[in-house]
Amino acid sequence: MNKEEFIKAVNELNINITSKQLKDLDTYYQMIIDYNKHTNLTRITDEKEVYLKHFYDSLTLVKVINLNNELLLDVGTGAGFPGIVLKIFFPNLDVTLVDSLNKRIVFLNLVIEKLGLKKIKTINERAEEYALNNRETFDIVTSRAVANLNILSELCIPFVKKEGYFIAMKGTINEELKNAENAIKTLGCVIKETITFELPNDAGTRTLIKIKKRSKTSDKYPRKFNEIKKKPL
Ligand code: SAM
Repeated sequence: MNKEEFIKAVNELNINITSKQLKDLDTYYQMIIDYNKHTNLTRITDEKEVYLKHFYDSLTLVKVINLNNELLLDVGTGAGFPGIVLKIFFPNLDVTLVDSLNKRIVFLNLVIEKLGLKKIKTINERAEEYALNNRETFDIVTSRAVANLNILSELCIPFVKKEGYFIAMKGTINEELKNAENAIKTLGCVIKETITFELPNDAGTRTLIKIKKRSKTSDKYPRKFNEIKKKPL
């Protein structure tokens, strides 16, 4: 996806783009490429592919939710997807990026500083540990490419405020949704909406699962990761 195609596709999501935002994305792209030379951030490095599969893909979250000034948590953000991209386009969002890998957090801090982003912080911790002191805190929790939905739900839903949302950003899901139904219910949530769409230029199928918090999650969850993995809800 070249820059023109990117602008057009983003406008079609009803998001306006300023020249400052385009410049910030360019800077971010260059930083990814430079850092990726010595520390693995992503296997996608071609500029057109990054704009499509990382930048545009991150913004597709707006297909299922309006973003304004909410507290948003991105679990397992990696090189900042979707969290950094959302912050660039929605400057009033209050963003927390959590990742267990320190080398990714070091990179994200460099990006935040270079772009002068405000109301954004990084947390170098496992989600299930960070959840212990940050339960029911966020309006929106999202996560892309981190774990199967049954496991991911236990990592993410404890963070969501009552009436808030967990939005899982997925590819093709097949049985994944069915296998996560029990976890979603047990953790106090209901599935509000699932949408499937194709990325432009035949870049693949995407699914957004919008899950709403109805009641407080039991303090039993999240469990330790090895228990979650061994016995998913
Ligand atoms: N969300 C990014 C994306 O879509 O490009 C990164 C995806 S990467 C495949 C998965 C990331 O999740 C890694 O950076 C990894 O360190 C992080 N991660 C995996 N399990 C985690 C956990 N329990 N808590 C925090 N981060 C986790």
